[in-house]
Amino acid sequence: MVSENTLVLSQGYQPLKVVSWQRAICMSYLRKVELIRAHPEQFIHTVDEVFPLPAVVRLVHHHRHAPLSIRFSRHHVYLRDAHTCQYCDEKFSEHVLTLDHVVPRAHGGKTTWDNVVTACGRCNRRKKNRTPHEARMPLRSMPRKPSWLPATARLGIRCVPEVWQDWLTGASATSNS
Ligand SMILES: [Zn+2]
Repeated sequence: MVSENTLVLSQGYQPLKVVSWQRAICMSYLRKVELIRAHPEQFIHTVDEVFPLPAVVRLVHHHRHAPLSIRFSRHHVYLRDAHTCQYCDEKFSEHVLTLDHVVPRAHGGKTTWDNVVTACGRCNRRKKNRTPHEARMPLRSMPRKPSWLPATARLGIRCVPEVWQDWLTGASATSNS
């Protein structure tokens, strides 16, 4: 059973979303998309036809996209801060990072883009329930909502298949760090 997905590009070749190959075939049948690249050596057999399995398709018509809203999540905060502790300025892998509330929750600090930063476990423990000022631990940058994240993060792609790499370059490096 084939389980591959299809990357959908905008008319301007920007990654838009990931759909099942069945959905991609359907969009193709309705002439909404054109095939850009097929999954190598994978075919779909119907009663009297054989189709290549779509890996990348592109919207045929221009289509206005709603501005992408970047969802607040642990993973997205780490990406925004480039996996770097905002107190000691060192880079860590995701499993040793923590989220720190700049204004601690005990003092009414909210879990929002502008009050949450990436911190290593050591800095987080040292800061405790204090503000950066109280703890004398200045932030390397003021947190805010990011206007941009790599396409892989926006689309929720953890692992980039080789056939998609031409459209997701630059993003693939961050997905493994
Ligand atoms: Zn640190």
